[in-house]
Amino acid sequence: MEHYMKICSLASGSKGNSIFIESHSTRILVDAGLSALQIKNRLKSINIPPESLDAIVITHAHRDHVAGIDVLSYQFDIPVYGHTDTLNTLTYFLKRTKKICPWKEQFPIKDMVLKPFRVSHDAIPTVGYLISTSHRNVAVCTDLGVITPDVEEHLSRAQIVILESNHDPEMLLNGPYPWELKERIASRVGHLSNHDSGIFLKSILNGQMQKILLAHLSEENNLPDLAKSTILDYIGFQHDDMVDVLEQRKVSQIFSI
Ligand SMILES: [Zn+2]
Ligand SMILES: [Zn+2]
Repeated sequence: MEHYMKICSLASGSKGNSIFIESHSTRILVDAGLSALQIKNRLKSINIPPESLDAIVITHAHRDHVAGIDVLSYQFDIPVYGHTDTLNTLTYFLKRTKKICPWKEQFPIKDMVLKPFRVSHDAIPTVGYLISTSHRNVAVCTDLGVITPDVEEHLSRAQIVILESNHDPEMLLNGPYPWELKERIASRVGHLSNHDSGIFLKSILNGQMQKILLAHLSEENNLPDLAKSTILDYIGFQHDDMVDVLEQRKVSQIFSI
């Protein structure tokens, strides 16, 4: 059996998030925060029929992560996995979903193993996932206000790290958002800044890490080039090829390990 993992971001940012991950025998989405129609169109652009998905896995109950779940799971009979408390708060977004699968801890989906870990964010609970198949590990960690030991433990084991780099602190401070929203974003249960992510990535950079995908960038308070150059300021510009930025409006390239 041939082992591999392929990763493609269908969308990343505060207007909708969904990441496609494939292994030898499994296809999943982590979050489905665009409309079902948009997700279908974006999957089609990479030649993935939605009915071939084995699962939708949820990180937390914010709209930008769950908006398309009900229609998508109902139309194509796709099971939805999440923390019990997340699933319980999502009754509206899971109205017609037929297979609701609460996990307690690490769980398999065919040849993938998913290990959820808690992160600090204002939907409780919010999790990241370490997703593995035969020594290949991808970490998805997109909505968090602060780095915790759990985040460090799981992300340092991944060859592909998908980590949020939400905002530039100065752009946030001087930007158009109302003060309460600025405070929320910058808080310990909000979102990581480019600097937060850069400092952390430098601390976990190791020989096995092959790719860093910067996720959940704010369209108002960040710029793709600024996020990438801030990260490279910390980890070193010799790692230029290692860092890519995921976008809100575009399907990413397909990354493989
Ligand atoms: Zn989000
Ligand atoms: Zn969120």
